[in-house]
Amino acid sequence: MKWNEDAETAIAKVPFFVRRRVRKRVEEEAARRGSDRVTMDHVTACKRKYLENMDEEVKGFQVESCFGPSGCPNRVLQEDGLGNELEKLFSDEKMRDFLKSKVSGPLKLHHEFRACLSDCPNACSRPQIADLGIIAAARPSIVSFHCTGCAACVAVCKERAIELDSLTGEARIDFDKCLSCGQCVKVCPAGALETDVKGYRILLGGKLGRHPQLAQEIEGIWSKEQVVRVVKKCIEHYKTHNSEGERFGEVLNATGLDFLSDRDSDPEEQAKVKKI
Ligand code: SF4
Ligand code: SF4
Ligand code: SF4
Repeated sequence: MKWNEDAETAIAKVPFFVRRRVRKRVEEEAARRGSDRVTMDHVTACKRKYLENMDEEVKGFQVESCFGPSGCPNRVLQEDGLGNELEKLFSDEKMRDFLKSKVSGPLKLHHEFRACLSDCPNACSRPQIADLGIIAAARPSIVSFHCTGCAACVAVCKERAIELDSLTGEARIDFDKCLSCGQCVKVCPAGALETDVKGYRILLGGKLGRHPQLAQEIEGIWSKEQVVRVVKKCIEHYKTHNSEGERFGEVLNATGLDFLSDRDSDPEEQAKVKKI
């Protein structure tokens, strides 16, 4: 849907973590009024409705994703329904009721548990400052006997994680630098690079506010099923240790991450992550 310039300017001032949701609401308002263009009237009407029904607007959680599903060429994974599964999980866990029982006063958007999914390490949805951040990952491996030493992978790797061996002339990956973006696999003309493991990185406990902190990453690349299991445990832990609606990062600061130190964080379990 097209937007008038003043309406675009107004929406740009909405805090980023609710901007997409507000934008969608405004477009729905315009459509409801039979318009195919968003004007300031639609923005103002939504703002008034929001202020009148703020408590109902807060559903207790948010699952946001980057623009990968709209066709971003950097996308590492194809749609596998993880976002929808997380939506259902948070909904089944009745996060709104839980937060209402903990927060004194009206529930506000900043109380919601936020999960952010990014389809590649560019992390456009800012998973590092969300309660739960998920980044799609594809770790490459080299089938060296196919490598022609063309250096296309060296040129595309923004992390400078690939170099050509000075003796053999073949590509070599430094996995301490590799961010598992999968770009090198896409450009290799000889089929010498393959995706070894595909899945997700998991980050926990990021937040902004008065005491901002970046999320901590738990090591590994996790399958969709493992991500869902880890998230279930995180919600259970969050509910058990939350006293007044504080953010997950604050809970983790007090408790640490030991609650995850069973089979889901076991390297043997991780080794079962889908190989493609
Ligand atoms: S995070 Fe990656 S896939 Fe998602 S929109 Fe940004 S660049 Fe595209
Ligand atoms: S996956 Fe990305 S970061 Fe890793 S070596 Fe390939 S291009 Fe570099
Ligand atoms: S792009 Fe493929 S063939 Fe070229 S150097 Fe890299 S691994 Fe070797």
